Amino acid sequence: MQNKQLNICYQVYQSGDELPAEWQSLLQKAVEATGSAYAPYSNFRVGAAILLDNGEVVCASNQENAAYPSGLCAERSACYYAGAAYPGAKMLAIAVAACHEGKLTETPTYPCGACRQALVEYEERGGVPMTVIVGSAGRVEVFGSVKALLPFYFDNLEG
Ligand SMILES: [Zn+2]
Repeated sequence: MQNKQLNICYQVYQSGDELPAEWQSLLQKAVEATGSAYAPYSNFRVGAAILLDNGEVVCASNQENAAYPSGLCAERSACYYAGAAYPGAKMLAIAVAACHEGKLTETPTYPCGACRQALVEYEERGGVPMTVIVGSAGRVEVFGSVKALLPFYFDNLEG
């Protein structure tokens, strides 16, 4: 038996103003994308913005449905949209922000487990780390890779 340990390194910024300009802009686009959310059931509006290696930024938001499981998170809406619109483009970074009752959340809203799994596969396909920028009114956290959020991701289809 061995005991093992994982360390996750990430940066914490007191506000989005401290971020490098490129990430600041991406986070702002994620905040703006909360405006297109369709969230009549949760009233929790999430926006995501993905920077591609071709310079494009793809934005999306959560889309809910009366049949709850049929809705989709902002992060997966964004990465599937990017994958469909720009096949082969590498996803370099994703910014995520959320608003509740019209105000940016005080603490970061991290991608859910299902979104982490979807994002990590695009990260693997791209062959480059996808920076994850999670914003809030209280602080902004930056992870150098989706794998930092999901170190034990599923990819074993061969058994
Ligand atoms: Zn999700």
